[in-house]
Amino acid sequence: MRLLVVEDEAKLSQYLHKGLSENGHVVDVARDGIEGRRLATGGDYDLVLLDLQLPGVDGFGVLAALRAQSRYTPVLMLTARDKVEDRVRGLEQGADDYLVKPFAFSELLARVGALLRRGAPTSAGANSTQLRLADLDVDLLARKATRAQQRLDLTVKEFNLLTLLLRRRGQILSRTTLAEQVWEMNFDSDTNVVEVAVRRLRAKLDDPYTAKLLHTVRGMGYVLEERA
Ligand code: CA
Repeated sequence: MRLLVVEDEAKLSQYLHKGLSENGHVVDVARDGIEGRRLATGGDYDLVLLDLQLPGVDGFGVLAALRAQSRYTPVLMLTARDKVEDRVRGLEQGADDYLVKPFAFSELLARVGALLRRGAPTSAGANSTQLRLADLDVDLLARKATRAQQRLDLTVKEFNLLTLLLRRRGQILSRTTLAEQVWEMNFDSDTNVVEVAVRRLRAKLDDPYTAKLLHTVRGMGYVLEERA
């Protein structure tokens, strides 16, 4: 398997290169975020091991560039112990798993193995990573949404918003709920950001199609459902 290690700490990146190579993988190493982003988006890797605190572009920037592509590459984040919010943010932006430094190499190998076995998502099977409503399909692993087989070009937040609405289809979700769950904002924050995002999502999700799925319930919030 081809792996990319994006890690600026020399000792750790050498250690990962050596250990993973000894376990039969072909390993490239990027020592800063710019190189990491270039290799991650240009190379054909089976897995990316991604440090978050990097010079140049940080790990989130690398992740965003990678997830902006249609091709799915699993990402294992390497994070500092005290950076819980980084892990949450990384997972929210589409990382698949994380390891807290310092980690045992055996644990790293186990996580890498699990992600490689899981591999790229397939369309087969009705597993929980595939959500569907009418002609809307969402693939959570590939972070891909389609309507009538047409790919919807969504931002990370729009995708997360759609996923939440789709998981709770038929339920009215208030702006406050959406702000808390998608943006991790407090209830007293300005929920205008939700309205703007809903408008943008609707333009992509519903405007080109006759059957509307995302509905506003005045004074209450939004609901995703099929209406006759
Ligand atoms: Ca670092």
